[in-house]
Amino acid sequence: MAKEVLKEVATDSGETEFQLRLKRVEGVGLATTRTGQHYFMLDSADYWYDVIQESYPRTKKCSCKSEWFTLQIRYYYREHCDDVEYIEVLSTCANCAKTSIALGVEIHYSPTDGLVNRPLVFCKNPQIKYKAKQLNGLWTDAEFLNTVQHCFQLGFFVYCWYFVKQENKRFFKSVSIEELADMGNFLRLYLSQKELTVSDVAQATDELGVYLKEDLWRTGELIELTSYNINGNEMYFVRYATQFIDKAGEVQDKSESFRAKTIQFEQYLKEHFINKRHKNCFDGEWGYAQFLKDRK
Ligand SMILES: [Zn+2]
Repeated sequence: MAKEVLKEVATDSGETEFQLRLKRVEGVGLATTRTGQHYFMLDSADYWYDVIQESYPRTKKCSCKSEWFTLQIRYYYREHCDDVEYIEVLSTCANCAKTSIALGVEIHYSPTDGLVNRPLVFCKNPQIKYKAKQLNGLWTDAEFLNTVQHCFQLGFFVYCWYFVKQENKRFFKSVSIEELADMGNFLRLYLSQKELTVSDVAQATDELGVYLKEDLWRTGELIELTSYNINGNEMYFVRYATQFIDKAGEVQDKSESFRAKTIQFEQYLKEHFINKRHKNCFDGEWGYAQFLKDRK
């Protein structure tokens, strides 16, 4: 049987009671001590700032209303190997001693000794915001293609990640507006400030093709476009950021020329679409009319 190790959690200065802010789906958490010191749990530092941009998690409360917990971490090791495969963070209420699993995280990388030796990583400021936009719009094919055409004119390089059913394979390449028009569906479209190669953006490649990293728009100088069919209308999602948080936890500006292009892009949306459904929504005439009809 594979090895399991249970560890008590304490800070370097010996504090053992924490308030917890958790995003369980994303597997990240922040622990705050009685003296107000913040710590990322496990490898949360890599994801925390991205995850909290939309909403900052509230503190965990026990059913007895207490929000102070002691922590234990259970490490599940891979068979015949020194790497950890799965980690459970167990929280015990400091008031009523009720225990629950606060966080469960699967680990897909190696080595993992950092997670065992330093389960808490000091965090100076857990609440940093950076400038990011998440917009959407109900667009026809023509409105979508006109928007991309405008991005070509702004000087963006246009890349597409798409799936070819006949080959059961995913591809990533730069596309022209004609190719995009012929393609129909795609997985993601990138409007990029600079030229991209597969190695810049790929998480992995195998016989089923290229798998891209998630959330490239957060750190990269690019606009990400995805689309979903919602009740027969094509809803496009547009994401980009003109700032990012560096490894040291500081907010950095992306290039001035990327910022200038995003402003021109927003100007295009304001001039060509209807901005009434919500402040982040830019709909085409047809899409907006459908939305009003569906609402009745
Ligand atoms: Zn309790």
